[in-house]
Amino acid sequence: SKFVHILGVPFINTTQKDFIATLETHVAKQEKTFVVTANPEIVMHSLKDETYKQILAKATYITADGIGIVKAAAIIGEPLPERVSGYDVMLDLLEAANKNHSSVFFLGAAEEVLQATVKKAKQDYPGIKVAGSHNGFFDWNDHQLPQQIKNAAPDFVFVALGFPRQEQWIGANIDQFDKGVFIGIGGSFDVFSG
Ligand code: UDP
Repeated sequence: SKFVHILGVPFINTTQKDFIATLETHVAKQEKTFVVTANPEIVMHSLKDETYKQILAKATYITADGIGIVKAAAIIGEPLPERVSGYDVMLDLLEAANKNHSSVFFLGAAEEVLQATVKKAKQDYPGIKVAGSHNGFFDWNDHQLPQQIKNAAPDFVFVALGFPRQEQWIGANIDQFDKGVFIGIGGSFDVFSG
């Protein structure tokens, strides 16, 4: 079936390649999309924290981030084809954005990591439009940042605040945006820029 439930979390049954194509379709249609790349830690957290579980319920797609989820799916007899991790999805989305000249907003990590990430992204993917960027240490009650993102109306927003902050931030703010693929990608900027 299209979803595989593991401890109540519905994982999309997809290959990474098909998932990227799905997200590109949402961008083409300017449809707002909330992606969670969930590892076992996220699944366990959702069992303990009802508020977090409700945030996951707002996600458009939850992907299997890590071999632990893929193995769990095999054990319950509903195999998933492969892992679809945040870092790999980010790289493939940058490639897609490069090809389609899509706009990207980078949110998260320390300021120097963020700047190095934006610089490398522009170098490696010259076709992307950088719609803006902001480091991951800001006042969540200040409406300036979400307003900036709303005005920029990017196709992709990479949210590298770490778990569970990135899902909490997207969940709390996504209603005010008109479009964009919002995806939590953990420490990916540190890896990408490092
Ligand atoms: N981070 C952030 N804002 C915060 C806390 C963390 O932007 O308030 C960034 C951090 O700089 C790193 C990423 O989130 O780039 C992942 O952080 P961490 O390793 O603490 O999270 P985890 O790996 O546990 O998800």
